[in-house]
Amino acid sequence: MIAVVLLAVVAAVVGIVREARSSGPPPTADAAAPSSSSAAPSSSAPAPTSTPATTPPAEPTFDRAQQSIDDPDSTWVVVDKARPLAPLDHAPADLVDIGGRQLRAEAAQAMHDMIAAAAAQGLGISVQSAYRSYDYQVDTFRNQVARFGEERAEIQVARPGYSEHQTGLAADVGGGGCDIESCFATTDEGQWVAAHGPEFGYVVRYPDGAQDVTGYKYEPWHVRYVGVALATELQRTGTRTLEEFFGLPAAPGYPG
Ligand SMILES: [Zn+2]
Repeated sequence: MIAVVLLAVVAAVVGIVREARSSGPPPTADAAAPSSSSAAPSSSAPAPTSTPATTPPAEPTFDRAQQSIDDPDSTWVVVDKARPLAPLDHAPADLVDIGGRQLRAEAAQAMHDMIAAAAAQGLGISVQSAYRSYDYQVDTFRNQVARFGEERAEIQVARPGYSEHQTGLAADVGGGGCDIESCFATTDEGQWVAAHGPEFGYVVRYPDGAQDVTGYKYEPWHVRYVGVALATELQRTGTRTLEEFFGLPAAPGYPG
């Protein structure tokens, strides 16, 4: 009788233990499930972590709207045959002397630094032309029209109000025995300017083969100051023109 009671007690105890164990595992399994499922993401976590880490260098966020491309005082202003300066007779307020020419202060300092850096490499670069006023462009354009007719004049000289030189951010440079000629592209100076200009904020504005976009044939001597950030971004992305970078319409000629 005692043995039966003992057996019953033992059976009851075993039952309680089993129930405790069987009710135990579910929470444990649940606890294990999140930990194993969190182990899965954490084991694949290096992938998501390394993906954002490698994505930024591949496509860093460059804010293309951080400066105006319409304001004639913006270093990013885009002037072409479809985008005249507004107002047409705009004149920059901060022109300073650079080699007997004039550029806006920031562009002049950058040009000074670029010329000095080139000189340190044994290369002589000079500023042949820089800021041109609206009135100067009016006279130049009239002279060209009188000499060659309007059609040819418009190929050779920008209409007043449509010249990048009027922004005070563009310059024609020379060196290596070639000034404002296509041969500049073949000189050490011309090749250095194309390669290193962006380090100083300058880009070759009218590259080879982009006349259908810029409206100008290849001008290896015509450099445009846009600031180091934009210039190096253009170079890094291999973007030929400001029009393409900013998604602007091609400007092969004057509208109308
Ligand atoms: Zn020029």
